[in-house]
Order: sequence, then C-alpha cells, then structure tokens
Amino acid sequence: MLASVAFIAFATVLLTHLGGSGRVRTIDDLTQLVAAAFAGAAAGWAALQASGRMRRSWIAVSGGAFAWALGQAVWCYYELISGRSTPFPSAADAGFLLFPLGSVIGLWLYPSEHGAGARRRWLLDACIVVTALVAVSWATTLGAVAHEGGDSRFAFAVSLAYPIGDIVVLTMALTALCRPSTHRGQLVLLSVAMSAMSLGDSCFTYLTAIGKYQTGGPTDLGWVAAFLLLAVAGVGAATRPPDKNDVVPAEAANLVQRAAAATMLPYLPLVCAVGVLGMRRALGHQPDSVERVAVLVALAMVLVRQYTTVRENRALLDIVAAREAQLHRQAFHDQLTGLANRALFINRLDHALQLHRRDMRPVALLFCDLDDFKAVNDALGHWAGDELLIRVAERLRGTLRPGDTVARLGGDEFAVLVEDGGDAVTVGSRIIAALCDEFTIADTQLSMRASVGIAELLPEQATPTIDTLLAHADIAMYSAKRAGKGQLACYDKSMALPNADDLQLRQPLTRAVAERQILLAYQPIVRMDSGALLGLEALARWTHDGVRVGPATFIPMAQRAGLIDTLTDQILDQACNQLSRWSSRLGHDRLRVSVNIPPTLMSDSDFPNRVARVIDRHGLKRNQLVLEITEDALLEDLQTARAVTGRLRDLGTRLSLDDFGKGYSSLLRLRQMPLDSLKIDQAFLANIDFDPDAERFVAALLALGRDLGLDVIAEGIERTGQGHVLRRLGCRYAQGYLFGRPGTAADVEPYVLGRAAPFFHTPALSA
Ligand code: C2E
Ligand code: MG
Ligand code: MG
Repeated sequence: MLASVAFIAFATVLLTHLGGSGRVRTIDDLTQLVAAAFAGAAAGWAALQASGRMRRSWIAVSGGAFAWALGQAVWCYYELISGRSTPFPSAADAGFLLFPLGSVIGLWLYPSEHGAGARRRWLLDACIVVTALVAVSWATTLGAVAHEGGDSRFAFAVSLAYPIGDIVVLTMALTALCRPSTHRGQLVLLSVAMSAMSLGDSCFTYLTAIGKYQTGGPTDLGWVAAFLLLAVAGVGAATRPPDKNDVVPAEAANLVQRAAAATMLPYLPLVCAVGVLGMRRALGHQPDSVERVAVLVALAMVLVRQYTTVRENRALLDIVAAREAQLHRQAFHDQLTGLANRALFINRLDHALQLHRRDMRPVALLFCDLDDFKAVNDALGHWAGDELLIRVAERLRGTLRPGDTVARLGGDEFAVLVEDGGDAVTVGSRIIAALCDEFTIADTQLSMRASVGIAELLPEQATPTIDTLLAHADIAMYSAKRAGKGQLACYDKSMALPNADDLQLRQPLTRAVAERQILLAYQPIVRMDSGALLGLEALARWTHDGVRVGPATFIPMAQRAGLIDTLTDQILDQACNQLSRWSSRLGHDRLRVSVNIPPTLMSDSDFPNRVARVIDRHGLKRNQLVLEITEDALLEDLQTARAVTGRLRDLGTRLSLDDFGKGYSSLLRLRQMPLDSLKIDQAFLANIDFDPDAERFVAALLALGRDLGLDVIAEGIERTGQGHVLRRLGCRYAQGYLFGRPGTAADVEPYVLGRAAPFFHTPALSA
C-alpha cells in the first residue's frame, strides 16, 4: 500500500515534470537511491528472519540492491553535487552491474520444492534461453554495435554487460516463475521485480545507445517500480511466519509435478534464434562467429538436457515400478510375517479350483491354527505374540516345496495350498514336526503347537466353492483341536458337527465383516395417532452367495466368532452416517435411529466411549441415537450393565428395552435401568385382535410401561385389527409391516423426507 502510494507520487512528478527539469532530476536521482537502499534493507531484513538457502538467497538480493544504491550514490554525486554528467564507464556502473549478479545468485539460491537435480535442470534451461537470446540480440543489435567499434574495449565490455545481464536476469526470473515453491508469492514478486529492472535497464541501454537518455525520463519508473516490488517481497518474507513445510519431497514426485510450461520454455528462444539466423542468412547476412558459437552452445546444452531428461525419466520409471511392486506386496502380503495374505491366498485357491474343474488337478488345503496362542499374548504381551508369529511363519516356509502357497489368514491362523498332487498329510506332518522345537522369545523358551485340518480334493470329486473347501478344512481343524490339539485331521463327511452351519459360514462371515458387507435395512417406528414417523430401526442384513442369511443366524454366529464388537461398531457407524445425511436434508435433528446392541456390549466399559465418538463423528445430537438392548444384557453382570447403561444415559443417548416380555427381567431390575422406552415383543401382540386374554395382557404391559414413565412401542404389527386394539388401549407407538417393512435407506427415504404419505396408510385406522 505504502509502496503504491510512493510509486504513484513519484510517477506523477516524473510524468508531469512538476517543479521543472532540475527539480525532477534531483527527485528522480534521490528516489532511485532511496528505493534501492530501501529494497536492500527489506531484503536484508528478510535474510535476518530466514535461515539456510533462503537466508543466503535474500543476502544476495540485498547485496545486489545495496550495490545498485551505491552505484546510484556515485551517479548522484556526479549529477547533483559536481554538476556534470556521469562519465561512462564509471564506479557507478560497477554498482549497477552487481545488481544482476546478486539477482541471479538470489534466484538460483531461492528454495524451490524441487531438489538439487531440478535446480541443475533449471539452471541448464536458463543457460539455453540466455545463449539463444544472446544469439538473437547479437544478430539484431549487439553485433552491429560491436562491429562499429568506437568506445574503448573496456567501455564496450561494460556496455555489453548491461544487456547480457538483463537477458540473464529476465530469463532466470521468467523460468523461476515455473518453479513450484512453498514461498510462491515472494518468488513471483522477486521475479516480477527483476523483470521490471531488466526492462528499465534495456530502455536505458537503448536510449543511451541512441544518445537520448536523460535522468528524469519515464524509463526510470521501471527501476523505482522494481525496487519497490523488491522491498514489498522482502517485507512480506520477513513478516511471514516460518514455513514448516519447506521440505524437499522425493525426486519422483518432483518429476511428475514439473510444469509443462517449464519443460517447453527453453526450446522457444532456441527455435527463435535458429529462425532469426536462418532469415538473416536468407537475406544474405552470414552469421558471425559469436552467433555460430552461441547457437552451437545452445544446441549442445539442449542435447545435455535431453540426455538428463531421458535419465530422469528412466529413474522415474524405476521409482514407479518399485512403488508398484511395493503396493502389490502390501496388498497381497501379510505385513507382519511377509507371507501371502488372505486376498492372495483366495486368489490362488480360486485358480487351483478352476484347474480342478477343467483338468481334474488335485488340490489340498491345510488349515493351521496355533494352540493356545492367546496365552502368549496375555502372558508376554503383543510384542512377543508378534515375534512368535514371525518365527512360526519362517518355520512354515521352511516346510514347503516350491509351488506350495502358505498364507497367514489372520490372527494365529495359517493356511497352505498344495496344488501339484503332493501328499497333504505329509505336508501337515512336516508342519507339526517343524513346530516341535521350542521357540526362544525374549529369553523365554516357548513351546507352540498347532492343530492342522486338511481338506483334500481328489480329481474325480465335484469342484466345491472356495467357501466350502475352506469350511471343510476349518471343520477338520476343529476336529483336530477337539481330539487334543497339536494334531492333524482330514475332513470327512462324518465330521458334521453340531455347529457345522457355523463352520460353513464362519469364514464367509469373517470376510463379510472385514469387507464391510453387512448392510442395514431401516424399518419405520410410527406414532399411532397421526401415523407420523418417530424414527427408524436399523436392522442388519447379509447376503452370502446370493442367499440372504437372517440376523437371527449371523448375529449369534458373529458373537461366537468374536466378531460382534467390530460388527456392532460398523453398524453404529453406518446408521449414524445415514441418520446424519437424513437430518441435514430434513434441516432438523428430531429424527431418531435405533440400533440393536448385543447383550455382551453392556459389560464392555469402553463401549460408551465408542458410542460417544461415533455420534460426535457424524455430528448428531446424542439423543438421536436409540440403543436397543435386550433383557439378557441385564442378566449376566448387573453391576457392570448398570454402570454401562448409566454412562450411556449420561451421554444423552436413549435406551430402549427390546423384545420386552420375552426374557426374564424382574420388575425390580427394570426399575433400576435408566430406560426411555420398552418394545413389547411381537409374540404378545400376535393375537390381540381376536384373543381377549392377549388383549388384557398387553393392556397390563402398557399400564406397566406408563407407570414406569416409559414410552411403549408395540412391535410386529401386521394387521389393521391389531392397530385398532392398540389405539383403543392407548398405545402411542408401533412398528410392523402394517406401517412399513424394513427397506434399504433409498427405499425408505421418500417417507423419511416426507415426500410420500405417512406410513399409517390404513384409512380405517386413522378414522
Ligand atoms: P428385533 O430387534 O426385535 O427386530 C425386529 C424384527 O422383527 C426384525 O427382524 C424385523 O424385520 C421383524 N419385523 C418387523 N415388523 C414385523 C412384522 O410386522 N411381522 C413380523 N413377523 N416381523 C416383523 P429381523 O430383521 O430378522 O431381526 C431379527 C432380530 O435380529 C432383531 O430383532 C434383533 O434382535 C436382531 N438384529 C437385527 N439386526 C441387528 C443388529 O444390527 N445388531 C444386533 N445385535 N442384532 C440385530
Ligand atoms: Mg430391535
Ligand atoms: Mg424386537
């Protein structure tokens, strides 16, 4: 701002010749002196605030500006004190010529995002441009001046130093603009300032050459503008907080980021130079030695540049290939042990099964589970557990032949794929033998055995699915465990275990949870009086191999497989995410979503923290989430359950007792729980429209709920008749197919957003 005002005042004086030419000359000379000194001081200040390369860069710029100021002081001495015009060359020229030198060094040192390689490339580009421009200038003007002679050799050299210095600075400044830098603002200002300086100099050289330069002319504006811009850049850099991101990123990223403009820039002046020389030749002017040498040098530098680019591209390709290989490894290998991971193993198994189907090639799958591995983790810590897994993986690798695949499927589960008809039992025995020797972990001797289950697929057998074969190996492995651990068992059909269903689905369910394939359906809960939506219950849905597996099957299974915590966290996250979308589209936060919480979580004291985090993450109000718990939650450890439910209530979430009546809760326990609502189990409501006893019982439950101060929701309402009875009994909330079946978020959205009629679509009821 200050700089603009100063510049406008100066320009006005200069352009309007305010106060006569003598006064204007004095003002002009002194303004230039002050502007240069000011720029030098600002750059010096920036240098003091900076460090490393940046400091050295600003020192060079500051030195250049002060040198120019000294040159201008000499000039002022001649013009204003001794009253004669400044001789040429004089001490002033030394000062003036030091400025381009300082600028070039400053720009060269100015930190950019790129590393040393990129800076070298940039210098090479700049040299190509400079040489090409020198060739052009020589051919068009400089050469003619040089051939004319006149001045002494020294004077000629000095007069030549100005335009060449200008070309160098202009080139460096323009190419610098193509360099990415975290301090881009200052770099742009510096570059523009130096460009303005070069333009001012060029005008000066030209006017001096034709003998028309006079102090106080409009050309001097260029210098003053340049120094003011430089000062602004310096002040900006000095007052800018230190940037923590001044890191030089990896060379590969640099190469990729290079601006196309910067890549093409050096070629343009060279094409220009060759064009100009060509045209002059066509007009009968033979290029002199300077022109020839300049063009040849520029061409040689282009060749060097091409060579460097090819080398860099090759290096880039190597880096990219290495990255790809690394990504591939990460995607398909277990990070801890370096063995194949589940994804790679399934891929190989799939391939092996295809070969079995097509060429009847035998396949054998071995499942290996370490016995009592958890005890190591518990006793010695996870570090020891990890170390043990690494050693086990090494030994497993040692037992295999080339062509066999060994993978860590997760935790302490390993699997081996034998494809070439090798004897699976021998492989299994070798694995068991390999683990016989004790392991030494953290100076502790550990013995670790494994149970191995084998599922063999003979050539003539029908090809099963991947999941079936995995399940067979899993069943065999469990059979080995039950037989006393550290053993081998081969799958056969007689191994149909009581929970074989579980084993069939355990692996697919583990995968479904890992891949977040369990989705949610939403079922409306409505107000009986108006049919308006109160909230929605989120219900878990899983489709495996195209078949829907009900939550009543897979939720208990997830519990047995130790997946329930992860699954519940995922369900909470999904439900909250959906609720947050709906709330923002509705523009209010009154909508609620209920999530079913398995009983075990009521004795997990960390659960309330996780709930709080998920609600907050999705920006919901705490009371928008309703947690449906069942009576079993209160059976096990009432003390902890009370603490956990208490904390959940303190958070502000609502608690609802699901399937009320189905369990065994005593009224006393109910009173001790900080509940908001009760959901009467559908079994009690099934016959209320034609069984007076059922109606009386529900009436009693409703009264109980009211007495406890809880909202009561009737579940599983399918018929209008049930609705009528409930209304008569004063039941205020209901859920069931009558009001809406569970549907995907997209299915229920029109109702939720009020774009479709209320759920309560039975005219007879609303009458
Ligand atoms: P719930 O929490 O009592 O859920 C209500 C069940 O009743 C749902 O069955 C729902 O589809 C069904 N239903 C709703 N209206 C009617 C109706 O008018 N007639 C009939 N016959 N049924 C109706 P769903 O989805 O099969 O869920 C069964 C149970 O599985 C749930 O009972 C709940 O205990 C459990 N569950 C479902 N999703 C989850 C979940 O995300 N986490 C946990 N832990 N359990 C869940
Ligand atoms: Mg429920
Ligand atoms: Mg229920």
